[in-house]
Amino acid sequence: MTEPPSTSSSVSVSGSVVAEKRCEESKGDEVSPKKPRLETCDRDDTENKLEARLGGILCCAVCLDLPRSAVYQCSNGHLMCAGCFTHLLADARIRDETATCPNCRVEISRSLATRNLAVEKAVSELPADCQFCGHKFPRNSLDRHVAELCEERPVRCQYNLLGCGWRGPHHEVNSHQQQCQHPTHTGAQVFSHLQKQAEAAQEASKTFNQIMSVLSFEKITFNDLQLKPYRTDEFIHKLFYETSRFSALGYQWVIKARLNDNQKDPHLTCNRFLTYQLIVKSKPSNPMTVHFMVLRGPFGDTRVDPHICQFEFTEGNTESPFFALPLPDSAECNKLLAARIIDFRLMMGMVTK
Ligand SMILES: [Zn+2]
Ligand SMILES: [Zn+2]
Ligand SMILES: [Zn+2]
Ligand SMILES: [Zn+2]
Repeated sequence: MTEPPSTSSSVSVSGSVVAEKRCEESKGDEVSPKKPRLETCDRDDTENKLEARLGGILCCAVCLDLPRSAVYQCSNGHLMCAGCFTHLLADARIRDETATCPNCRVEISRSLATRNLAVEKAVSELPADCQFCGHKFPRNSLDRHVAELCEERPVRCQYNLLGCGWRGPHHEVNSHQQQCQHPTHTGAQVFSHLQKQAEAAQEASKTFNQIMSVLSFEKITFNDLQLKPYRTDEFIHKLFYETSRFSALGYQWVIKARLNDNQKDPHLTCNRFLTYQLIVKSKPSNPMTVHFMVLRGPFGDTRVDPHICQFEFTEGNTESPFFALPLPDSAECNKLLAARIIDFRLMMGMVTK
């Protein structure tokens, strides 16, 4: 109803045949684009709604987020993301209970729950916003966009090794680098910066050098071991892990591990870690200093960082303190708890005096 006046006004302004023709065209335009415009608008709306609805349906029943990797389902079809699924299994291990689906309470385990590949694929096609430029991309291509293609992704100046602290969006890096003063600095000016880097590199190679030195010890052994879960006899049956006895370096040993340093309710926290100690079972006649390190080994997939521990065992001191099992994060710890048995390799080295 409001359109006719605007058309007539345009005619009266131009007042020519051409203008009239244009006007007719525009009139036609008004009719034809209007519909598609409405349609696209509608489609955008419905797509958005559909995406939102799908998001609500395909999200994890525990954390309500859209799963980023594997999706598991209970035997009744309730969905859980890999992180929450592992967390539920780990919680059950800590509490000495059977893990159950939070929706329907049916038992869940690695063998009772299944992957849902269709949901994984559907989620990977749903759009997500790039955190830097705000544009939408299918989830399966977002990582590549953020890492390689986004013009707004933050990057460093290529002369940051010379001390340039510039950091900005990718589309500005070239113009910055053209004006960057750091390549013209003298050796004296960049010296302190290079020295810091040399120190950092030295620090990074420390563990490596330690391992190399242990490898050259006179006595060195590797044992592939299994930590199995047990319960303490106290009123609250606390979870702990222990290996069977094994022989190494002419002695009998055992490894014990515990969760969150025996914290009271480890199931109430998301921050989880394991610590372990080495115990000698046959009493040493002379003090002996043993270097030891937990490695992934051929039968496990534990992601442990290499870290050498050291302890002097004596007749009266047969148990080492608890050392951290160097796991990358709590999720990795949950993975170990969920898997029941922890497979690993123990390297031990001893210098004989
Ligand atoms: Zn989840
Ligand atoms: Zn269920
Ligand atoms: Zn982007
Ligand atoms: Zn620069």
